[in-house]
Amino acid sequence: MLFSSPITPFIFKNNFYHIKRDDLLDKEFNGNKARKFYYFLKNDFPNIKKVISFGSNQSNAMYSLSVLAKMKNWEFIYYTNHISSYLKNNPSGNYLNALKNGMKIVEINLSSEDLRKYVLSLKDNSTLIIEEGGRNKESKYGIKILANEINEYAKKNSLKVFLPSGTGTTAYFLSKYLEVEVITTPCVGDSKYLKKQFN
Ligand SMILES: *Cc1c(COP(=O)(O)O)cnc(C)c1O
Repeated sequence: MLFSSPITPFIFKNNFYHIKRDDLLDKEFNGNKARKFYYFLKNDFPNIKKVISFGSNQSNAMYSLSVLAKMKNWEFIYYTNHISSYLKNNPSGNYLNALKNGMKIVEINLSSEDLRKYVLSLKDNSTLIIEEGGRNKESKYGIKILANEINEYAKKNSLKVFLPSGTGTTAYFLSKYLEVEVITTPCVGDSKYLKKQFN
């Protein structure tokens, strides 16, 4: 369903980079979130009627899940602990586009750990729960395919692979499946937080 995205040259401050263009995978279902959710796109889940997730109100994972839910004909419910009145009155970005895809967003005043526990408690036979940012073990399915697309090219050109981390899921599974060095930097929290996510 997804094709092997191209690797294109990019010169920045006299350094040559090879960019893996997962932004070109699809107009709507793209980026590392398409890799992380590929397992759910590819397989059939006859009992599943809805998908529930949680996190920030402008998350890329939220938007990609809204696309996935639309393709799968699933209801999509998303819990977040705050939506500013400005955003409610002026919807924009991922928030707006996910709403357009039919997302139902629920504001609930819980700390992140309590919110996670609450959402996990909503599991039943017809509900798929996706952890914040797509931090699910199923992510490894699509990330392994990504690694296979990069591996030979990276070895042949003696490259290291760099990517920014949120939950660290993509970097973790890439380093598991790639035969070259993977370098990342935490963009959410600090390196201590990121190492905890890896564990
Ligand atoms: C989600 C996201 C990340 C982080 O991915 P993780 O697997 O959570 O580390 C990095 N860059 C972009 C553009 C993203 O959307």
